[in-house]
Amino acid sequence: MNNLIKDNLVRNFVAGQWQEGDNNESIAVEDPATGEIIAHCALASDKSLSQALLGARQSFESGAIKDMKPVDRAKLLANIAIEIRKLVDEGGELLCKESGKTLNDAKAEFIEAADYFDYYGGLADKIEGKSIPLGPDYIDYTVYEPYGISAQIVPWNFPVSLAARSLAPALAAGNSVIIKSPELDPLALASLGLAIERAGVPKGVVSILNGVGANLGAKLVASKDIDQIVFTGSVPTGQAILKSAANEVVPSLMELGGKSAGIVCADADIEEVIDSVKWGIFFNAGQVCSAMSRLLVCKERYDEVLERCVKLAENLTVGHGLNNPDLTPIISAQQLEEIERKITQAKNEGITVATGGTRIDRNGHFMAPTILSNVPTDSRIAQEEIFGPILCLIPFESSEEAIQIANDTEFGLVAGVFTKNLSLAHKTASALKAGQVFVNEWYAGGMATPFGGVGKSGFGREKGVEALYNYVRTKNIAIKL
Ligand code: NAD
Repeated sequence: MNNLIKDNLVRNFVAGQWQEGDNNESIAVEDPATGEIIAHCALASDKSLSQALLGARQSFESGAIKDMKPVDRAKLLANIAIEIRKLVDEGGELLCKESGKTLNDAKAEFIEAADYFDYYGGLADKIEGKSIPLGPDYIDYTVYEPYGISAQIVPWNFPVSLAARSLAPALAAGNSVIIKSPELDPLALASLGLAIERAGVPKGVVSILNGVGANLGAKLVASKDIDQIVFTGSVPTGQAILKSAANEVVPSLMELGGKSAGIVCADADIEEVIDSVKWGIFFNAGQVCSAMSRLLVCKERYDEVLERCVKLAENLTVGHGLNNPDLTPIISAQQLEEIERKITQAKNEGITVATGGTRIDRNGHFMAPTILSNVPTDSRIAQEEIFGPILCLIPFESSEEAIQIANDTEFGLVAGVFTKNLSLAHKTASALKAGQVFVNEWYAGGMATPFGGVGKSGFGREKGVEALYNYVRTKNIAIKL
């Protein structure tokens, strides 16, 4: 049974109603591995946006979620998790086809989304304030209150799990939420609407709208009716949203891009390094904000690491996500062209392409896994986010130099260090300009570990207990006895 697509169309979930939007506009969603159209996605109209805002405001002011007993909110989130898990197969296949990622990764994304609701459901009744001693004549305490309406803008690389990453803590804290889906792969995200409906979330508390960023997205974040913006996406869009947020002074959370570096020290375990390269830059075709897009290698191990990286890249299996290959396509023709343009520019600057460097000659939008060698740290390819399976290898002579190179971009999302020397690992981790540092395994950590950037990678933290406090504000109550 197909729960998500009806008449070849995925609809908007607007204050509890599945809607096509009044203007009957839709976008065709393609399979990036074949270029074929999978289905259409109905675009929300201005009226749908107004209805979503009204539903969110009414549900918030009525106390439908805010005043629910915290333990009941916890149960509600657990029910959402149960309903998401029921959609793993159907939603996972749709996500695989529209995003290009492997079927295994797409299903894992659904499971991760469900886990976010369990994790933050478990915290819903633990948002505890403080008692502040002011002497015998006063009682003073703080409470954490939800913002109200949280407007959340989601990117295409992990649409389901990233939406859940922000939605679950926002609900746990008692907010109403309006999500804007990414236009390149909006289909599977409708699963969250279905799970929310089936779990019995009060109407209006959650809406999921489909629309083009510069149109619907811009209107949502410019609305006078929202109380918070949660944005996950690129730096230029984040900057545009922050300018818009400034007009109404709307608190914002920014989860932006990166150009993250792994540092390979002389004593590193090269098997661990190569395994981390495989996941760090080739998982999801490198379309990961925290991808390992630069690998800094000490001079003594440089040739060995280069040879192993080239071998790894040349032996990756490539294909349709349904067959679970190592390397999947780039999300769109436009994005692939952009990656090729940046590689051509690097070649013109004299940078060595050790392997790859071109698109793969087959249907769909496939980019060859690419290793660039001896990349000058100030070159554009070493400074800009590429968002593809492109690794810049950079040699270094001392750990001080490695740290200096790693920190020498405008980003600061994650970083990594490979060494058996605990003292060196710790000192390097302290010196790295990043919101999270991995030691000996790229993507170590998980749902419970705070994640977010410094510099142009953004501000605020998602994941972990800490993220919950993005979705509340502190009120102090001072009582004279
Ligand atoms: P993007 O900025 O192009 O789009 C992100 C979302 O913003 C989409 O839903 C889009 O429709 C919307 N949007 C576009 N213009 C808008 C506007 N003017 N107002 C409101 N919304 C608008 O990013 P993308 O290409 O979808 O995603 C890739 C980027 O996201 C990369 O830079 C990546 O590093 C970053 N990212 C960051 C994280 C993180 O947690 N830090 C996670 C995933 C992706």
